[in-house]
Amino acid sequence: MNESRRVGLLGYPVHHSLSPVMHNAAFHALGLAWEYDLIPVAPENLALAVDVLQAEGYVGANVTIPHKQAIMPLLAGVSQEAQIIGAVNTIINASGQLRGYNTDAYGFWQVLGDAAFTPSSYQAVVLGAGGAARAVLYALLSHGFSVTLVNRTESKATELAQHFAPYFDHTIKVVAHDDTEHLQAELEIADLLVNSTSVGMTPHITENPLPPAISLPATLTVYDLVYNPRETALLQAARAAGAKTVDGLGMLLYQGVEAFRLWTHQEPPVDVMRTALEGAIQARTSSPP
Ligand code: NAP
Repeated sequence: MNESRRVGLLGYPVHHSLSPVMHNAAFHALGLAWEYDLIPVAPENLALAVDVLQAEGYVGANVTIPHKQAIMPLLAGVSQEAQIIGAVNTIINASGQLRGYNTDAYGFWQVLGDAAFTPSSYQAVVLGAGGAARAVLYALLSHGFSVTLVNRTESKATELAQHFAPYFDHTIKVVAHDDTEHLQAELEIADLLVNSTSVGMTPHITENPLPPAISLPATLTVYDLVYNPRETALLQAARAAGAKTVDGLGMLLYQGVEAFRLWTHQEPPVDVMRTALEGAIQARTSSPP
């Protein structure tokens, strides 16, 4: 029997989310009578929303800004990975017990595999120290990278470096965002540059998170988490410098792929999900709200 089931997205706001398009296309492709709902929840109502998820029998949910950290103590359990990252983006309802996971780190790393990224120095430079940076840092450190972290607010970068230090042998070195000379030297020896700031997002599409004096080595792979637009000013500059580029759509796709797997225990139709996302982003880029 193909039972009707529901999953949803807890966040505030959620109306801009591309997850319903991606997941509903996947449910449809597999003939599942499942539905992905948007569940806007103001911060003061989060505990109530968690009760409602349980009471209404949701199979699971995604969690987005601003609840990824706040939801953790409200759950019956959290995976070790989500605990170390310090954020939950996916929930499973196992017989009324809500358990939290983080699929962002998986999503981030999976894309590098698709891009045939082959590190040699195992050094990465990461820009940004917000929520997304946590998953990026976890993925890189757990795959043996040493990381140089740069953030506009340096104290947040230092906090993240301290947060991860007990869990990994490899370290996070913090460099001030205006120390261009030091940043240039770190880029010269790195395999990978990751932008996990929101700089370059629509509508500020001409902005580049790197200082203008920086020149990108052609040996780098430059990975921008921003997916709207897919071709950011940073990726344009990287391509012009002869570097390889990776855009943010793949991470969005694969975090969803892994969440889908956790909820349905079925192999996700990745190509269907990718096509749905590409169409939705294309529509949004050509007619912004
Ligand atoms: P967040 O927690 O709000 O963090 C934002 C980061 O950007 C902070 O490090 C912030 O620095 C920095 N920043 C913002 N404006 C800046 C500016 N004008 N100059 C320099 N730095 C600036 O956001 P987030 O959740 O980490 O998301 C960051 C980006 O990643 C967003 O574009 C988001 O769409 C994208 N993202 C993509 C995926 C994906 O699947 N592709 C997943 C998650 C996030 P301060 O600390 O100094 O404020």
